[in-house]
Amino acid sequence: MTLNPRWPSDPRLLRDWQLARFRRYLSRTVLPFSTHYRSVFEKEGIDPSTLRSPDDLRRIPFTTKSDFLAETDGADPVRDFVLVPDKVTLSRRPASIVKALFRGRKAVIEGFEHEFRPLLLTSTTGRSSAPVPFLYTACDIANLELAGARVMRVCDAKREMRMMNLFPFAPHLAFWITHYASTGFGVFVLGTGGGKVMGTDGNLRLIRKIKPDVLIGMPTFLYHVLTELADDDFKLPNLRKIVLGGEKAPLGMRRKLRALAHKLGAEKVDVLRTFGFTEAKLAWAECPFHEDDGSAGYHIHPDLALIEIVDPKTGEPRGEGEPGEIVFTPLDARGSVVLRYRTGDCIDGGLFHEPCPFCGRNVPRLVGEISRTSEIRDLRLGKLKGTLVDFNQLEHVLDNVEHVATWQLEIRKRHDDALELDELILHVAKADEIADEQLRAALNDRFVSETEIHPNRIEFHPVEELQRRQGFGTQLKEQRVVDHRPVASPHGTASVPNPNP
Ligand SMILES: [Zn+2]
Repeated sequence: MTLNPRWPSDPRLLRDWQLARFRRYLSRTVLPFSTHYRSVFEKEGIDPSTLRSPDDLRRIPFTTKSDFLAETDGADPVRDFVLVPDKVTLSRRPASIVKALFRGRKAVIEGFEHEFRPLLLTSTTGRSSAPVPFLYTACDIANLELAGARVMRVCDAKREMRMMNLFPFAPHLAFWITHYASTGFGVFVLGTGGGKVMGTDGNLRLIRKIKPDVLIGMPTFLYHVLTELADDDFKLPNLRKIVLGGEKAPLGMRRKLRALAHKLGAEKVDVLRTFGFTEAKLAWAECPFHEDDGSAGYHIHPDLALIEIVDPKTGEPRGEGEPGEIVFTPLDARGSVVLRYRTGDCIDGGLFHEPCPFCGRNVPRLVGEISRTSEIRDLRLGKLKGTLVDFNQLEHVLDNVEHVATWQLEIRKRHDDALELDELILHVAKADEIADEQLRAALNDRFVSETEIHPNRIEFHPVEELQRRQGFGTQLKEQRVVDHRPVASPHGTASVPNPNP
């Protein structure tokens, strides 16, 4: 395993280098053993050796979430994405024959097992659909360790630091990549399992005891934990890194976390974000930056992934530094493999290939804020027609308002009547002593100036009540937007509220 592999620093040469790697990966690893992609490439008549420019990639159809759910007779959309080796093909390869001659058949079989036998599973959180499992082989776990160790290096962590992993203990990427980052990098880690396993008190007790230099977890949970510590006047002056993952962390949230760290006596703390998703089986991080300069973006590992940015509507490629949807292709994965996977995540700055202005690494970087393409909902707020509301934008607006500790947006039907208009209710817990009317006016102003709509009501609650509403500590992700509109029954009358919008 090498933390400093050599790839060309010239952006054009890097693309050629990645394409050559991709062609080799397709012909040696993916196409012989992936049911799904073998049939796609046959159907489209694509010879992998002809994929020589970024433009050629467009011949490979995108893979989307719906491909995992597609119902074709006899097909198992999830299993069809797993590489299942064919022993005959493998054992006939010259490399296998040479290995068998010099090291014996057993070594050859062990090599195949390392490469292809699934050992670990993480799955999508299934907020909007059934969870999709992604399998890892020993080869993938080695890459998970490698990617995790690189995240630590990009964040400029040091081996002597003590780290606490506050991600929920679950079969999800965030917890596991953090675990393997510590073994790959060689740093002490204590995984608490988050609020779900030992509650806020258990986490606080361990933080007081371990006095970590690095805290890594979900932004909302870290915010909660740090607030409790600050309220108790606890000091944690050696805290150097707050690393965020698992959900979005807008600027306002990062500012609040930095302010809380200062309250704890930590003067020099980097609040850094990571970005990863189940289908990638890895994550990327920001390198430390000065607040005024803004982040240099997520540092991509170019030997493990090929990233494209496309127009979210047409799928057409976007140029260097143009916003669009992130499309992911692995370059060295085994187990579950997806090619040209449309993440549904849009980046507003785009992809940059010049070396990082802060740390100097010659890796591609994803710059800007990430938001989901699918968070636009049609609400019937007025008498006449539906209004398209971008909940991503609302989240950014709300996270950036001062005096707000935490919030939740609730969509209801007026009088819980399915035929009535929709109502938008904003629930807020205040961060400090500010008059209700003053904060209500400020929130309404922000809403109108940035979204042209405003909530029907703004209700204030104690922090604990809001956390209960968000499913804090019991749900994997805090519920920031809840849809309590009743689902109309086939007979046209209102029935039960939809618990899982
Ligand atoms: Zn950098």
